This record gives sequence, C-alpha cells and structure tokens, in this order.
Amino acid sequence: MENQCFICEQSSDVVVYRQNGFESRLCPDCGLLYCNPLPQDNEVDFERDFHDDSFYKMPAKYKAKWLAKKIGYGKDFLEVGSGKGHLLNELANGGFQVAGLEPNPIRINYMRDTYSIEAHQGLLEDYEFYERKFGVVFHVDLLAHFPDPFLALEKMKSLVEKDGYISFEVGIIGGISNFWYRFFTFGLPQHRWLYSEKSMEKFLKKANLIILHRTSHSLIPYFILKRISSIILISILSRFLKPVIGKKAAVLIRLNQSFSTFLRYNVGRYFPNYGPLTILYITKPVS
Ligand SMILES: [Zn+2]
Repeated sequence: MENQCFICEQSSDVVVYRQNGFESRLCPDCGLLYCNPLPQDNEVDFERDFHDDSFYKMPAKYKAKWLAKKIGYGKDFLEVGSGKGHLLNELANGGFQVAGLEPNPIRINYMRDTYSIEAHQGLLEDYEFYERKFGVVFHVDLLAHFPDPFLALEKMKSLVEKDGYISFEVGIIGGISNFWYRFFTFGLPQHRWLYSEKSMEKFLKKANLIILHRTSHSLIPYFILKRISSIILISILSRFLKPVIGKKAAVLIRLNQSFSTFLRYNVGRYFPNYGPLTILYITKPVS
C-alpha cells in the first residue's frame, strides 16, 4: 500500500534511500522520511531489536543523569520498550520508582530476575494499565516504529499523571545532506518514519506536546571515529592476538563499545548540530 507523511498527509516522489525492496521518501513539507510502500503487519517483527545490548547499556548512566537533572529525582517512571531494563536500573539507583513495558519475554525475565524491576509484557497500543499513572513516560527510538505515532503519543498521554512528562530519544536523519547516508543503514521497513528536526517540531505541536528540554548530539564524531577505531580493533585482533583471542578480544570489543558511546553522547553533545543527530526531548502535554 502507498504510504505518505503521517504528519502533513502528503506524498512525495523524492526517494533518498532504498533497502529490502522499500524506499525512504522525503516529505517536501517537513522533511520526514517515510517508508514506501507501507510494510505489511507480518513484515515487521516488533520484538526484534537490531541494536546490540551495549547500545542501551552503555549510555544508560548518561541518560539517567540528564533526566534526573532536568526533572528531578523520585519520579514514577515508565519506559516503553524497556529492553533488559538497563536505563530503568540506573534510574532506580538514583531514587526513581521504575516500571518497564516490553514485548519480548526473554528481556522481561532479565528485567525481573537481574534488576528486580516491575515488568509488564506487551505492546503500548493494546496494553491495559487500568488506573495506573506515571510521572514520566519515556522511550528510545520508538517513534520510528509505531504504525500510528499520533495514537502512540495519545496512549502515553493517557498514562501520565497531571503535570507528568513524556520524554524520548529520537534519531534525526531527515532534511540533511544525502552524503551522510553512506555511514549507516536506514533499517527499512522496520523504520517507517525517520525524522527531521522540522518534522519533530510539527509532529509534537500537532500532538499537543510542549517541548520543555532538549539536548542534541551530533553523530558525526561517532560515524567518523568509530570507523577508524573499528579498523584498528580488527587489525589488532587479527595480527597480534590470534593465539589468545577469547578474553582479550572481549575486553577490546567492550572498549570499542564504550568508545562508541562516548563519541555518540559525550563528544556529540559539544559538536555543532549538523548532519545526523540523536536528540533527547522532555515534553509535557498542553493542559
Ligand atoms: Zn511531512
């Protein structure tokens, strides 16, 4: 089925990327990249995660610190798509009451058994929390996946208490030069919507959410230096460590992962806001 920009309800002929028989088309109005055609329900597995665990675990402390600094400690916090609960664990250590909603049963068990976190198994759109409300509803990179992002935000709004926050991280790759598209894959068709800064602003305004705080991180240092560090790592592994590859390889891989996280957030934060970004937002429903 033909897809269109869900924010402007406009279609476009401008194709910026192709993958797995799908295209990313650029909305002429807001710069959103929408996946075309629209994937069938059975073409996307919502339980599958394409990032490895370190992608969530390593920056958990950084994000927990930023959230606590902006909204204060002690909030009742729900993460949608909480994975194994690494961020929630950091927040719990900082005095938040935390709960996670996650469709994957293995990750649910990990959250419960390793971190003793209150874990709810399911998808946001049809999970029933009854009267339960939260001070903060948070998610990472889910706005790219929701079949109907407006509906998902409405559901989140119904879960926050009065004066509560809706907070999230989102990758920004729309409305930038095509040059950057050689550094990563778009992940089609699971990423239905890839945002530009302009489309985020338009989307949040239409969803009646006010932006209170945002911090953006340029991914340029990560894309450039990560390549170099990976090449060095591979050459070290293949040349010098062949006979003792097990433990030392694991240490080097971990080092490489924490270097990546450092580049994405700690360095990216101070780099000019140019090219692909990842942005943390804290918003509030218009009262
Ligand atoms: Zn648009």
